[in-house]
Amino acid sequence: MVKVQLPRREMELLLLMARELHPREVIALLHGGKSGDVLRISEILLAPQSVYGEGFASFNPYQLPIDLTFLGTAHSHPSGVGEPSVEDLNHAMGRIMLIVAAPYRDENDIYAYTADGEPVELEIV
Ligand SMILES: [Zn+2]
Repeated sequence: MVKVQLPRREMELLLLMARELHPREVIALLHGGKSGDVLRISEILLAPQSVYGEGFASFNPYQLPIDLTFLGTAHSHPSGVGEPSVEDLNHAMGRIMLIVAAPYRDENDIYAYTADGEPVELEIV
């Protein structure tokens, strides 16, 4: 995987959701497709049965539909830290993880990682 593409409109939605839920965490599902080495996010969905708390956002993975367009998850870090926690990596689902860090201004507050925690280039398209 070389990079992740995120349409500007979906980016704005992620930032908005993170701001709305602050100081609680928001978690969302990323759907899209793959073309060569590029993963392109085309849809952002709220996780079913999400639980939002301070320093805690989770959902029941067994509630997820089996879906080949599922790419991974995005969640916010109200702390402003742009790196995945050990907890994040232990619970990574799909291929990518986006972290939206406070203060959620723009693409500079969004960080992309593989499920293994390797940083990936994020391109806003
Ligand atoms: Zn996290």
